Amino acid sequence: MHAMIFMRPGAPLEWTELPEPEPAAGEIKVKVLACGVCRTDLHVVDGELPPGPLPIIPGHEIVGQIEALGPDVAGLTLGQRVGIPWLGHTCGVCIYCRSGRENLCDRPLFTGYTRNGGYATAAVADARFAFPLDETGDPVAQAPLLCAGLIGWRSLVMAGEGKNIGLYGFGAAAHIILQVAKWQRRKVFAFTQKGDSQTQAFARELGADWAGGSDIAPPEVLDAAIIYAPVGALVPAALKVVRKGGRVVCAGIHMSDIPGFPYAWLWGEREVVSVANLTRADGAEFFAVAKAAGVKTTTRRYSLKDANQALSDLRAGRFDGAAVLTPLQPPSDGKAPRLFS
Ligand SMILES: [Zn+2]
Ligand SMILES: [Zn+2]
Repeated sequence: MHAMIFMRPGAPLEWTELPEPEPAAGEIKVKVLACGVCRTDLHVVDGELPPGPLPIIPGHEIVGQIEALGPDVAGLTLGQRVGIPWLGHTCGVCIYCRSGRENLCDRPLFTGYTRNGGYATAAVADARFAFPLDETGDPVAQAPLLCAGLIGWRSLVMAGEGKNIGLYGFGAAAHIILQVAKWQRRKVFAFTQKGDSQTQAFARELGADWAGGSDIAPPEVLDAAIIYAPVGALVPAALKVVRKGGRVVCAGIHMSDIPGFPYAWLWGEREVVSVANLTRADGAEFFAVAKAAGVKTTTRRYSLKDANQALSDLRAGRFDGAAVLTPLQPPSDGKAPRLFS
């Protein structure tokens, strides 16, 4: 198989040939049809998260087709299409696992961070954490649902039932969650970087009731705000425009420091909470919701070899929606990778 491997923080991923992985007991091996590029991957390769084992293959929005089943795999079949998300394994016995909060497991494995992920032509996963996917959909369109969609959904649930929802940082997650929130008949206020009129137009096209810079107060007070951008200064900014009793949900795995702010902005029973990871129950719920809501994803495709380009385009905000690697397709420059020669 081929993979783009993360060797050390700050270094570009390296195109590498590896032996085909073999699924152990309870595992599946998939051919990677598509793998989304998530902001968390940037935090991993930029060294902004505590280091995991290295080298590692990033990528945790995997749409794959099962090529091999290890012993003791139940409920999945050869040839089936599955999604492999960030949550790659849990211990099953810690207090969190035993209380329906496996997203907080004390001894988890995370795909593309502490176990190998999908920036590769093949991947192995714990079968119990793979989601069966619709076989007819475009795998590239499905990939962003695996993290942007799932964690986005968990953050929307965490935001509560309020009508007016603010979304800060209009990337992969927000472009999906806006569609879900509109389907739920809510009002959506999309906040982008100051002056980013292109992304604001994209948000309006998708149905945002209002779009503007995060430095601007929205025309109505918000019931809740979800912050997808890794910018701590957005926490006080969002608190200032959320009503009494409202909630600010921080949905990213990493953020710059939150600056100090007057206690009065929090007072009035406003809350700041974070969302961490996902549970398998979130997945079951979200895939049904995404289908009912008719969610459509906007994607930019990259060949596997162009993973570094995809990461740098994400870092610079050079596209709307989500970047997706297509490991079985040749690179866009027409030069076939060694895989096909
Ligand atoms: Zn656990
Ligand atoms: Zn992610």
